[in-house]
Amino acid sequence: MNIAIVGAGLVGRVLALNLLKDGHSLTLFDKGSKEGTEAAGFTAAGMLAPFAELETAESVIFEYGKRSIELWSDLLKIIGLFDGYRLDGTIITAHPQDMSELKHFIDTLQFKVEEAKEIKLLNSSDLAKLESDLEQHSRAYYIENEGYIDSQRFMLFSTNNLDIHQVKWREFTEVQRLESGKVFVNDEVEEFDWVFDSRGLGAKEHFDDLRGVRGEVYWLESNDIDITRPTRLLHPRYKIYVVPRGNGCEGMDIEYCKDCKIAQTPNSKRYIIGATEIESEDTSPMSVRSSMELLSAVYSLNANFGESRIVNSETNCRPAFKNNLPRIEQSEKLTRINGLYRHGYLLAPAIVEKALAEGINAECVS
Ligand SMILES: Cc1cc2nc3c(=O)[nH]c(=O)nc-3n(C[C@H](O)[C@H](O)[C@H](O)COP(=O)(O)OP(=O)(O)OC[C@H]3O[C@@H](n4cnc5c(N)ncnc54)[C@H](O)[C@@H]3O)c2cc1C
Repeated sequence: MNIAIVGAGLVGRVLALNLLKDGHSLTLFDKGSKEGTEAAGFTAAGMLAPFAELETAESVIFEYGKRSIELWSDLLKIIGLFDGYRLDGTIITAHPQDMSELKHFIDTLQFKVEEAKEIKLLNSSDLAKLESDLEQHSRAYYIENEGYIDSQRFMLFSTNNLDIHQVKWREFTEVQRLESGKVFVNDEVEEFDWVFDSRGLGAKEHFDDLRGVRGEVYWLESNDIDITRPTRLLHPRYKIYVVPRGNGCEGMDIEYCKDCKIAQTPNSKRYIIGATEIESEDTSPMSVRSSMELLSAVYSLNANFGESRIVNSETNCRPAFKNNLPRIEQSEKLTRINGLYRHGYLLAPAIVEKALAEGINAECVS
């Protein structure tokens, strides 16, 4: 089929990689560049945390999350992203005065899913065996089989893979609206056998209950810290996480690094520190307040972060509906996927699998 994907962010790319497997011919429209650096999928920390997210999410997110983790390894093999994907667990900790947060966290998880009863409580010496740079913390939970995707590398590697497959890129092309098999650009209509709407927050012209939830992250680099697993610090006012990124841009396409304008600190480790969650669609740079919260929390996690270097900050909006759950809408020759909120990496492969099975693939079979 001759297919249009409108919005080449996270969902658009996961769609494209799946549709290419079935031999379809693809045109990808995006209002930004094909590198996708404006998509929320680029800003994301890329955590795959079906258990840890249950603190605030519903158990359906847990089920889709587990399925996505199964599906990611194949998708990442297709694009050749091997070293930007780890599944060796998440650490959840809190300061001694905030132990009630830690208790509330585990109680909530265990109330929502039976499997959470398997989550291990670590003391400081157990923790030091896993993560020596966290040994100052007297208690932590260790959740196995969670992890992360290096989301910035996912965007880069998927662009390269889509180029190799000679998809038609229509970058810097803002689509006005979509209808059954039709894409409207600059007051002209283009026709396709099937159209996918994966515009994230850009689909507000269709979904009147779609909102953006602002999130801010820092990229820090340090020679003195070696944390290998995503680590969450619970706090009564804000929650932060530290997600490792290996050696940052090292080994990455130099053009890409130039585009990112990242001055990488030689031989250092990079960490994504995030993320704020603010009911606002403002994507202007990070506020002083958010900056103070994120940096003071990370400094309290390990004081060696005090000498780390801030190499970048990013702000973007998560596309969300009122219930913070994803939505798939099917009609003739048109599928819309949206509302992945703070769970895009956690959900995209499973949601796309469902959307394809109920939409275009069901149509092809009939
Ligand atoms: C700070 C932050 C941290 C996050 N951390 C995580 C995490 O750790 N784990 C996780 O699972 N999720 C995380 N997320 C959530 C995840 O990034 C989103 O759920 C996901 O990116 C949504 O995917 P999407 O494809 O719908 O939107 P996007 O990735 O934003 O892609 C939408 C694309 O559509 C394009 N577009 C929009 N309008 C138009 C138009 N009219 N015409 C053409 N193109 C258009 C945009 O340019 C963009 O490229 C995070 C998000 C943020 C902001």
